[in-house]
Amino acid sequence: MTLRHSIRDLVAQTPFIDTHEHLVEESRRVHGVLHPALFPCDDWSLLFYHYTGDDLLSAGMPAEDRKRLFAPDTPSEEKYHLLEPWWQRVRHTGYGQAVRHTLRLLYSEEDLTAASLPRIAEKYRALICPGFYAQVLRQKACVEHCQVNSLERIFMETEQPDLLRQDLSTVALSSGLDRDEVERQSGQNADTLEGWLQVIDWHFERYGPRAVATKNQSAYNRRLDYTPVARSEAEVLFARLARGEALSPVESKRLQDFLMRYCIQKATEYGLPVKLHTGYYAGIAHMPLERVRQNASDLCPLLRDFPDTRFVLMHIGYPYQDEFIALAKHYPNVTIDLCWAWIINPTACVRFVKEFLTAVPASKLLTFGGDYLTVEPVCGHAEIARMGLTQALTELVEEGWLPREELPGVIELLMRGNARALFPDRTPTSP
Ligand SMILES: [Zn+2]
Repeated sequence: MTLRHSIRDLVAQTPFIDTHEHLVEESRRVHGVLHPALFPCDDWSLLFYHYTGDDLLSAGMPAEDRKRLFAPDTPSEEKYHLLEPWWQRVRHTGYGQAVRHTLRLLYSEEDLTAASLPRIAEKYRALICPGFYAQVLRQKACVEHCQVNSLERIFMETEQPDLLRQDLSTVALSSGLDRDEVERQSGQNADTLEGWLQVIDWHFERYGPRAVATKNQSAYNRRLDYTPVARSEAEVLFARLARGEALSPVESKRLQDFLMRYCIQKATEYGLPVKLHTGYYAGIAHMPLERVRQNASDLCPLLRDFPDTRFVLMHIGYPYQDEFIALAKHYPNVTIDLCWAWIINPTACVRFVKEFLTAVPASKLLTFGGDYLTVEPVCGHAEIARMGLTQALTELVEEGWLPREELPGVIELLMRGNARALFPDRTPTSP
């Protein structure tokens, strides 16, 4: 057996721990309860919604056509004709390839064509039944379990706590302070900083023992320079906010900074790693690269000030991943996560894994998170991650950077061992 084949087999047999998804609850899918952003339609076109829908717009598909494509009442044939010319343009990207692998793995179809359309439409429907999440994730994607960041809840009380372990979101509590949203979800609110810190404490007391990590994606809205702010200053700012006064952007940032640092401290007390979005933005036509470029350097004060906190920097900070190799090498409390990155730029991730492993301890890399709302393409994404890992490891051995006999140990660490060591074990105890 060739080196590449033996690595491919080992990678294929080793289950991933999937460290990042946004999956909606399975019952929502089974009952077809639509959500305008998270689950806009319930037919085969949903497979192309998240993230391929971004590449369709990037290629030039009119926004109105995209809307029709993912509308619940558009006829299947019309959807196909809307998609087809743009699908030809995007089918080779990481997003597109993840869908093609998904079609093959779940439905035994090589591609979406006029001929395969009716079969894919039928097979899409046939798959969805109670238990299909476990079927897709465990059998098709070979994933032990996922870590889910619900976009509906600060903490999702999931129906499947073993399969879908949950992050505790700190956005509304701190860096994207949203008192109305927190009150809507938990009935908790406060007019003073003291009271708000108790609201944060309440969330950690209630959900911390069941969460796997805290998650924060405020990098979509602000820089990651969370500076130290005196409590007395934060008290004044919070009181003004509670009185209905508008804070200036600088004041608002300082209050967020204080609250974010408080949440990081709480996460550390509860033994929860702190997951932070870094790098590339989902969507189109809004990413300020100048701000994204500062993610790695903005984080340095935080990494120094919280030496006992385990930071998970997501998406390798793409396209500035070199700087994240430097952060992981230099700061003992940093782990880098390849979640989502494999489908943003697959071959960049191959280079990244090679460079990471020859620069940074192998214990500091997590190698898979599908980052999907929809469960089906997780298996296509996992396939791409396995292809990439196989290529990177094969090249490292062939080029003399990694002894062949050390491969099994490295593969085990990268695919699940590091996640196991880093995150609290939330395996439900049997009754
Ligand atoms: Zn995500």
